[in-house]
Amino acid sequence: MISIQDLHKSYVTGTNSLHVLKGLNLEIEEGEFVSIMGSSGSGKSTLLNILGVLDDYDKGNYYLSGKRIWGLNETQAAITRNAMIGFIFQSFNLISFKNAMENVALPLYYQKVSRKKRNVIAMEYLDRLGLKDWAHHLPSELSGGQKQRVAIARALISNPKIILADEPTGALDSQTSLEVMDILKEVNDQGITVIIVTHEHDIAALTRKIIRLKDGVIGEVITNGELQMYRDRVKQE
Ligand code: ADP
Ligand code: MG
Repeated sequence: MISIQDLHKSYVTGTNSLHVLKGLNLEIEEGEFVSIMGSSGSGKSTLLNILGVLDDYDKGNYYLSGKRIWGLNETQAAITRNAMIGFIFQSFNLISFKNAMENVALPLYYQKVSRKKRNVIAMEYLDRLGLKDWAHHLPSELSGGQKQRVAIARALISNPKIILADEPTGALDSQTSLEVMDILKEVNDQGITVIIVTHEHDIAALTRKIIRLKDGVIGEVITNGELQMYRDRVKQE
């Protein structure tokens, strides 16, 4: 599904250049449930933005479903994203003057689905996420957990193969965080690859593989037996 070799990414501002990703290698299979951890500034969002075809890279290879992602213009990148990827962000990124249903329906607007049809489909997704009664409320009238569920519905409505979530529980209390992780697990159970960035150990422990970013490369991969030990340790804290 995702295959990355020797990935490099620098940010250049004026005469300064910051080398963030320094020859990173990564393989993620279809259907995996992965978390990416690493200290603040280690390049987690940078990597997620490259995975999501929101940003380009300087050197190396990134293959998504067998296709090399390289040198795409904005239209080609958008086509790839719309066909493959759903995004979830810490700050929800809902449009404040649109109600829950309209927010969920938005990706279908860009796919030129009629208003009537996209609202019907949006209602189905809101129903699935337990938010039918909130369809006509604005984001400002929803709790943090409800807002994130609206964002998840919006991410799912275009039938993505991959969900990319950047600190999806970062703005939520621990109980609501667990509810959101339950939803992401259900999404994964349906076969969708889920990749989340988090710095919270108890959130990472709920995924099936933990990838640690360190010094611009993958420092450690925790899975299987090691992951069970990690979970036990988190539980004791
Ligand atoms: P993380 O998500 O792990 O906290 P980021 O990927 O956001 O880290 O950032 C990695 C480093 O790159 C940080 O030092 C950050 O300040 C820098 N950075 C991120 N985005 C940009 C940008 N658009 N321009 C310049 N520097 C950036
Ligand atoms: Mg970040």
